[in-house]
Amino acid sequence: MGGRTRAVVAAAVLLVAGACGGSGGGGSAGGTGVYGDPGAEGAGTTAPRAGAGAASAGGSRAPATTGADRGAGGGGGSAAAPTATAPRVGASGSSGAGGAAKQVTVSGPPGSYARPLLRTGDGQAILLDLLAQEGAALRPSAVDHLVAVLKRESGKAVTTSSTTIPDGPQQWTADDLTATADQRSANKATPDRHVVHVLAVHGTYEQAGVLGIAVRGDVYAVFTDEVGKAGSPLVPAAVIEEAVSTHELGHVLGLVDLVLDTNRGDPDHPGHSKSRGSVMYWAVDSDLVTQVIGGAPATDFDADDRADLAAMRSGK
Ligand SMILES: [Zn+2]
Repeated sequence: MGGRTRAVVAAAVLLVAGACGGSGGGGSAGGTGVYGDPGAEGAGTTAPRAGAGAASAGGSRAPATTGADRGAGGGGGSAAAPTATAPRVGASGSSGAGGAAKQVTVSGPPGSYARPLLRTGDGQAILLDLLAQEGAALRPSAVDHLVAVLKRESGKAVTTSSTTIPDGPQQWTADDLTATADQRSANKATPDRHVVHVLAVHGTYEQAGVLGIAVRGDVYAVFTDEVGKAGSPLVPAAVIEEAVSTHELGHVLGLVDLVLDTNRGDPDHPGHSKSRGSVMYWAVDSDLVTQVIGGAPATDFDADDRADLAAMRSGK
């Protein structure tokens, strides 16, 4: 498989790219997939983002999904990526939030729901809709952490809902994940209460090395078996799970530069922080996380991330 091929040399970069960028790539794209698939590519990569936004508006979920994260991943190969981020945001913003702040369009790429989630006065509450397969649920400690972080950054009441979902594919595509969220969730967003769907599933993402991935403005997934395998005596899986689930939440909240244009993102890994001290560091949702970081990953946003979130909260 293509995945194996790249695993060797390009491992660090590609896998990570895969992790975040992979979503769009689709299985067919394979290793180089991020750019390989024309359709995905447009959505996934940089400029495409704009396309993604448009596409999402049109109703095409796949492109949208991939967009944010994929762009991130794609960045590894494309110099254009950096620019992509900003544009993308714009794109998603226009297609998603649109003129009416209350009109929450959650079919856009990761980041497209960030402003409604964060902005003061835009809804009073956020529901973390936990959709987990039997035996794959996030640990209570990770859930508590997500609730605390989201409450702290949004200033809104945060509650959870837990639902057990049926078995799924061994290898998930972005479409599988969004479709599952749509089919299995009984919790819909309202103007007063936003909803973020958090899938915790067995199996793997279609692209190797992915521990978690944000696939839509309101949907992200954690592959908890993969998280378990990434753990070690030195870095317990519980810590990685907390990091990965928070990292993907960060993408949903527009980090890094999926919404704002601070220019502080990692040019080699769009959508990510250059700081290893941030949970938004690019390696966090890759199975190479502990090797790349050389220890335990951060499990929370750093000061720069939090400044971005505060800016969005205040309406920027
Ligand atoms: Zn990421």
